[in-house]
Amino acid sequence: MLALQGAFAAHEAILRTLGCETRQVRNTRHLVEVDALVVPGGESTTMSNLLARSEMLTMLHAKALGGLPIFGTCAGLILMASEICDGRDDQHALGVLDMAVSRNGYGRQIDSFETDIEVRGLDAPFHAVFIRSPVVTRVGPDVEVLAEVDGNPVLCRKGPVTVTAFHPELSGDDRLHRRWLSQTGILRHSSAQDGRGLGRSRAGAQTE
Ligand code: GLN
Repeated sequence: MLALQGAFAAHEAILRTLGCETRQVRNTRHLVEVDALVVPGGESTTMSNLLARSEMLTMLHAKALGGLPIFGTCAGLILMASEICDGRDDQHALGVLDMAVSRNGYGRQIDSFETDIEVRGLDAPFHAVFIRSPVVTRVGPDVEVLAEVDGNPVLCRKGPVTVTAFHPELSGDDRLHRRWLSQTGILRHSSAQDGRGLGRSRAGAQTE
């Protein structure tokens, strides 16, 4: 878990339930040691600054391009993108996925909503919680789009890197975590279709 800022605790709880050993990554020493990384929601400008200040930015960039499995959610998606249309000048986009994003593309007024989405490869809808979510405005040809809302990609994948514009950790549904873990070989003998093991504790507690 990248644990500099943001909504990492709920992800951590899911990963533990799925049998993963987790660790909070706060510096380059921690980052060297992990086999995979969740980049949570939060505030992408703050996370970008903290990454730069802690010297993790360069290492994360190199590890991501070297095939580190990453699950980037919301602000995590923004950090993985190649282009941030409305980012601050000093904000870094790691360019792990060829995609352009508008950071607060769903607007600042009606900025949070929940909706059931169809996800390619899952046989039942996923309840997706959007909180000041980015809008993906363009994806490159090598990026697989697995779900859309109003024609905009909200769940994308390229090899071991999966990104969501929503907060999959807030729906009480572990299928997307499970799928990322099994696709990247970290969680074996499991399928994304297996149950919803976590009960459905809807969003609300978290404000990022
Ligand atoms: N829009 C926020 C940002 O720019 C992300 C919001 C979120 O992660 N829930 O970082």
